Amino acid sequence: PLKYTYDSLQLRIGLDKTYTRNDSFTVFIDYVSMPDKIKGASTGSMAITSHKGLFFINPDGTDSSKPRELWTQGETQDNSCWFPTIDRPDQRMTEDIFITADKQDRTLSNGALVSSKVNPGGTHTDHWVMNLTIPPYLVTMAVGPFAVIHDTWRGRDVDYFIDSSYAKYARDIFGRTPQMIELFSNLLHFPYAWNKYDQVIVHDFITGAMENCTATTHGDFIQKTRRELIDEPLDNQEDIISHELFHHWFGDLVTCESWSNISLNESFATYGEYLWREYKYGRDEADRLMQDNFKQYMGGGMGGGMTKDHDLVDFYYHDREDLFDLISYQKGGTILHMLRTVVGDSAFFKSLHLYLETYKFSPVEVPMLRMSFEKITGTDLNWFFNEWFYNKGYPSLQIAHSYNNDTHTLTLNVNQVQDLTQNALFRMPVRINLYNGGKKEEHTVWIGKTKNVFTFNLPQRPDWVDFDTDKVLLCVKDEDMTVAERVFQYRHGNTYIDRYDALTHLASHTDDTAALATMISGMRDKFWFLRRLAVEKLTSDSATPACKTMFTKLISDPNPLVRAEALSALGRLKDKSMMRYYEQALKDSSSAVVEEALAGIGKIDSAKALSDASQMENTDDEGLILGIASIYARYGSDANLDFFLHKSRKMTGYQQIFFLAAYGAYLQHCSPQAINKGLDVIINWNKNGDNNYVKYYAKYYLQQLQSAMQDRASELQTKVNDLKAKNPSDPSITGLQSQLDEAGAVQKRIGDVLNK
Ligand SMILES: [Zn+2]
Repeated sequence: PLKYTYDSLQLRIGLDKTYTRNDSFTVFIDYVSMPDKIKGASTGSMAITSHKGLFFINPDGTDSSKPRELWTQGETQDNSCWFPTIDRPDQRMTEDIFITADKQDRTLSNGALVSSKVNPGGTHTDHWVMNLTIPPYLVTMAVGPFAVIHDTWRGRDVDYFIDSSYAKYARDIFGRTPQMIELFSNLLHFPYAWNKYDQVIVHDFITGAMENCTATTHGDFIQKTRRELIDEPLDNQEDIISHELFHHWFGDLVTCESWSNISLNESFATYGEYLWREYKYGRDEADRLMQDNFKQYMGGGMGGGMTKDHDLVDFYYHDREDLFDLISYQKGGTILHMLRTVVGDSAFFKSLHLYLETYKFSPVEVPMLRMSFEKITGTDLNWFFNEWFYNKGYPSLQIAHSYNNDTHTLTLNVNQVQDLTQNALFRMPVRINLYNGGKKEEHTVWIGKTKNVFTFNLPQRPDWVDFDTDKVLLCVKDEDMTVAERVFQYRHGNTYIDRYDALTHLASHTDDTAALATMISGMRDKFWFLRRLAVEKLTSDSATPACKTMFTKLISDPNPLVRAEALSALGRLKDKSMMRYYEQALKDSSSAVVEEALAGIGKIDSAKALSDASQMENTDDEGLILGIASIYARYGSDANLDFFLHKSRKMTGYQQIFFLAAYGAYLQHCSPQAINKGLDVIINWNKNGDNNYVKYYAKYYLQQLQSAMQDRASELQTKVNDLKAKNPSDPSITGLQSQLDEAGAVQKRIGDVLNK
């Protein structure tokens, strides 16, 4: 055997002689992995709570709330915690894995299951082989008592590994996967490269999902019943499925050469979500994703802290895990969409095809992507890549126009007003449509200076100057538009974002007849999200009888979230005559609708809401449980404590956070005795919550309760003091004093937990 040193993270092997780059050699390593003994295994960022690569969940089977499982998470460099490898994204490897597991357990790994052997003693050994090369961070194992639901794409296996209690919903959750594989294969002119595509749902996963090659791992938050899926937004379900799948081209087939180039994985996977939405649900639904991404990038988000702005290709990061942020995902996806608009659809997908074909099964850097685009388009694209990939920030544009009646010219002024000490001056082509007298003129202008002036000959003052007609520029726009222009924008704009911006703006001008009429048209928009937006924006002040008529119509909208919003709008009106609609809605298939119906009933008759809610208690539906919880949070009493204690046991993962919000509010108006009894759940989650976010929120609600108890105690103290001053032997003092003592005891108990 060769001599080696090992420090739990790095293995150094002394070879028998000096080797040159022309030699090759094989090293055989006999090892046992002990991920829990890795140095620093328990430290990690909020997004990935542990860096030990291999995880045993409920290993001794004592936790009845989840199955016994094993799974791995390699990205970024954690797989070397359980097998020796050169753990870098620029490496590629094939693999052979033998997994021995109990009889009732299924195993999953990369590539093909080539054999399965039954052993004496009730175990079986599965042999998985991956013949195509992948980077080490994509190697995976998952073991558990999964149900496996079989599907196919062009004759290849597409299987869904899921908790057996959810087996009947596997197709509701994953059923669009073969269609997605078909779409991406066609768009890229590059058929899915791998032998099969499996997806597995595991418990207590430390990140959202992971594109392990041919065997994607998902957190259990996407495991939902058919009823729960009715209300689930795409970004919690299908976007994740399309994202991980698109990685099988961008990430798995061509892989970022270093973490600095992570954009070549994550920006693309984020854009995969767009492509699927665009194909399956249309441009509006896709553009809504782009808008969300842009807002998230602008707003910070992700775990509460603003991501520090950095170049998309960042060579100067502090911690490689920090690169998995709003810039690599949200901003990067938006940049790819801009690139598509700059070069056009045909060139965009041809360039991606060339890039994949040229660099498949190898590490890639951003210049390779640029050169693929340049080869197809025959044009230099350094300007685009330099300002978006090798740069940070975004342009802030001030846009104004004026029309000269004498010369019949329109002057358009566009100023870049971003702080140029922090941001670059950007260069970009912008499409502009000029609408006048029923005609539309299309122009493209280039913006590259701080002050840009464009003039157009126009026979008459334009009805609307549509700047950035596809609404793709990643920028902040300061553009003064009149109500008439906004109305025009809603009716003629090319995109969902035009209609969204118009409605958002017009909502504060409903004293204007045309504005109000447009808001009412908004409630008939072809896109459900805008119907919902229009309802939401029409507050009780601005809601006219015509609005109210629309609200009642929208109670039977095909989209459940529109129905829920319409009920919520009616709820704001607190109109007793609406009771029959709420009662009808209690039978809706959507829990969001039922929740709003309960809330509406509560506003008119809280006792009825409590009794309606209590009749629904016997449900496992997460949305419905939360709906009932929010009624109890508002109107409930000590009597509802058992509901919370009972349902808390069914809450896992992120559900615990939503549950906590209602529970924390509920406890605040319970008696000190009930609070004392109810505290156990929050104290337990503060310590043992399913993830760090749960622990964080549990602590937050403990603090809230503590300050509520403090307020109550000082209120009681004042009362006691007043009574004592008037008559020291007042008989009600004893009762108040004992309440005061109990409040103090609860306060102290919370204090002890928080100070620990
Ligand atoms: Zn990803």
